[in-house]
Amino acid sequence: MSTFQAPKGTYDLTPPRSATFLAVREAISAPLRDSGYGYIETPGFENVELFARGVGESTDIVTKEMYTLTTKGGDQLALRPEGTASVLRAALEANLHKAGNLPVKLWYSGSYYRYERPQAGRYRHFSQVGAEAIGTEDPALDAELIILADQAYRSLGLRQFRILLNSLGDKECRPVYREALQTFLRDLDLDEETRRRIEINPLRVLDDKRADVQKQLTDAPKLRDYLCDACKAYHEEVRALITAAGVAFEDDEKLVRGLDYYTRTTFEFVHDGLGSQSAVGGGGRYDGLSEMIGGPELPSVGWALGVDRTVLALEAEGVELDLPATTSVYAVPLGEEARRVLFGVVTELRRAGVAADFAFGGRGLKGAMKSANRSGARYTLVAGERDLAEGVVQLKDMESGEQTAVPLTEAAAELAKRLG
Ligand code: AMP
Repeated sequence: MSTFQAPKGTYDLTPPRSATFLAVREAISAPLRDSGYGYIETPGFENVELFARGVGESTDIVTKEMYTLTTKGGDQLALRPEGTASVLRAALEANLHKAGNLPVKLWYSGSYYRYERPQAGRYRHFSQVGAEAIGTEDPALDAELIILADQAYRSLGLRQFRILLNSLGDKECRPVYREALQTFLRDLDLDEETRRRIEINPLRVLDDKRADVQKQLTDAPKLRDYLCDACKAYHEEVRALITAAGVAFEDDEKLVRGLDYYTRTTFEFVHDGLGSQSAVGGGGRYDGLSEMIGGPELPSVGWALGVDRTVLALEAEGVELDLPATTSVYAVPLGEEARRVLFGVVTELRRAGVAADFAFGGRGLKGAMKSANRSGARYTLVAGERDLAEGVVQLKDMESGEQTAVPLTEAAAELAKRLG
């Protein structure tokens, strides 16, 4: 170990586990790529105001969890705690919404940073794959995103996840509900901080995990009873489309989520094998966000799925991904001359598109064969002085154990043929 360690709340992805992370990112993004979502990448940091305005001044993310910094030039920046505000900012900046085709459908993958209390499944640096569909109000779009996330999790072999669904209403009906809820909450026996929250974001109080708070919330007014007709109809349509797709979900009227920008459809994916950090992904509609960050009216919907927690969910379910070996051929030279010759063969194989690796460092046959085994290679190529004198290399099929001498000049072509 060096003098240094990964900072608190972070961890390194190293082989072989890192391969699972790559596969998870790939599996989550595949259904998006097949459904008209284009790839977007934005900076790891943004003007701090973007998140303050976008995510919400009163949210935990903004008040407690943001990594902020002042540059030497005096700019106030924050490491991105989430993806939606940045993606919308970038789409507006590039005028993607003016190019004609709405919705603008985008997907992304990257690192996010929140100064949280670290625990299993909760880190200060984590990884998400996300999707945003910008500029269109259409229940089919909300349904599409939920269906695609379900498809992604299923393609990975996950089964013990549940989809929680709710509607948060819109700018017509939510304020009415908010007031009713505030009136109810003000009469409860709550601590100072929670009392402050009642005034700033009362819906968040519903999300309080403490049993003594939950007990008092039993008779709280229900958002469902306050939804306007348009919101009700919209939500019913989303539910009908998901149901028609055969995707199971649970109505969860307590689902409010920790970001201020959500309107109407909100959803969360939870996994039952993860303990307290059970949310593997979440999202919803954010019809007002564009205006909140100075853009035009652009009703939008999106989600972000956590890669770290998805990997933990796979481990909790005991799902082993079928990750093909990365190396097909492993070359083991015995002696200086063989090293030069086989290194040439390896280069030739790589150029022909065959994944090949080489026993570096002039190790003996036994150690090198161990490495060949560990690499998962289907074939090994072994050559010593006597083989070279005869103009051949020994080609060993690692599955059958069968070994044949192949003319050196034909080795690469023979392997390319066998490997198809
Ligand atoms: P959120 O933006 O909070 O809804 O997060 C979306 C998803 O990102 C969550 O469901 C988690 O899977 C993941 N996530 C959020 N925060 C963390 C964290 N601190 N550590 C690991 N994963 C996280």
